Amino acid sequence: MTSNDLLAKSKKHLWLPFTQMSDYEKDPLIIESGNGVYLKDIEGNTYLDGYSSLWLNVHGHRKKEIDEAIEKQLQLIAHSTLLGAANIPSIQLAEKLVELAPEAITRVFYSDSGAEAVEIAVKMAYQYWQNRGYENKKSFVTLSNGYHGDTVGTMSVGSIELYHKVYTSLLFDAIVIPFPASKEEQTESDLCRESLKQLRELFEAKHEEIAGITVEALIQGAGGMNLMPKGYLKGVEQLCKEFHILLIVDEVATGFGRTGKMFAVEHENVQPDIMTVAKGITGGYLPIAATLTQEHIYEAFYGEYTDLKTFFHGHSYTGNQLGCAAALANLEIFEKENIIQQVEEKALFLEEQLKHVAELEFVGAVRQLGLMCGIQLVQHKRTSEPFPWEQRVAYRSTLKMRALGMLTRPLGDVIVLMPPLAATNDQLKQMVDIMKEGIMEAA
Ligand code: PLP
Repeated sequence: MTSNDLLAKSKKHLWLPFTQMSDYEKDPLIIESGNGVYLKDIEGNTYLDGYSSLWLNVHGHRKKEIDEAIEKQLQLIAHSTLLGAANIPSIQLAEKLVELAPEAITRVFYSDSGAEAVEIAVKMAYQYWQNRGYENKKSFVTLSNGYHGDTVGTMSVGSIELYHKVYTSLLFDAIVIPFPASKEEQTESDLCRESLKQLRELFEAKHEEIAGITVEALIQGAGGMNLMPKGYLKGVEQLCKEFHILLIVDEVATGFGRTGKMFAVEHENVQPDIMTVAKGITGGYLPIAATLTQEHIYEAFYGEYTDLKTFFHGHSYTGNQLGCAAALANLEIFEKENIIQQVEEKALFLEEQLKHVAELEFVGAVRQLGLMCGIQLVQHKRTSEPFPWEQRVAYRSTLKMRALGMLTRPLGDVIVLMPPLAATNDQLKQMVDIMKEGIMEAA
């Protein structure tokens, strides 16, 4: 098939996720291959993968060890169901995840996407209290501007208006508390204290009806790369313990080295009751996700079948062998190549480079945790006035970046930079240079 045929057919038959198809029709893009931190389209153009193929690629594309692990597994079997029957890679991966996760985590429940991992966490937390006889503990607390996925349950505990508003009557009501966003007149520690005080008041008043709180780990991703004040997540953990509320930490975007630790909760030594992981788990190869839990969660579901405590959730491809084999190979590379230390060093280098971006007239803020960055565009640095929404300056900037040789996607007026962890300092610098130029051309 020629590239023109492919372009025509993609416009005729495909419906792309989170994409206004009229945008795609104007600027179509068809990826043919990838290698390292580069992607190549059907017309032979090469791009730096500035968004890790939507925040998940870790060691680059076509990583030999992961390719080989998948091929080796394929010689045995591609898939058998996990409903009532385990498989070898799923056992090995569960053991590895428990070893890497915070100490209190002992159990692994697989699924296929980040959204499903959170959907499961919400269902588990809900049923946990029902199984234990606390029938009133049914509601969830969540932070404003949070994102946990696009299914009905995860949208219910999410709060990005643009994505969720149209479905309002379809969703259950969660209690939304303000994200502790920094204000100029407040110090970080005051902000943290004040926000935790408000949460304490809420828990005091409503703990008998609250099942759990869902929270992204230290940094809100899709909400625009917003950083929590230091100590906030730890404070939430303490309040959850005090008021018997389950802490559900969403590590879908932050897990697997992205923030400079294997999991972001390690920055504050937080032990979630339930923790969700996906994206980087397979190095960005295959759709595996997991909901990790402490033993007390598991125990609340354990009993005779007739006790009616079983967790009735599971999909056709849950615990897929190829995905688990890819994940195991991915995690081995972390150890073999000392990836976490490398990320810490690269993050410092990137921080230096991003200072040049922060100086630009149209950049209001640069937010970064490890190799997870958001660049907030504004019309005027002095006033922080945003560009009119309809101008889509961030989106147009990313199109310019594409023309200059880097792919990424914006989040509203925030440009995302999430390079594969394998990016070298030279490649990080190239990404930042392209970003600067793209912003200046579009703004
Ligand atoms: N949770 C967080 C924090 C995310 O950032 C995302 C996706 O960006 C999800 C959940 C949903 O993951 P997925 O797209 O794999 O369903």
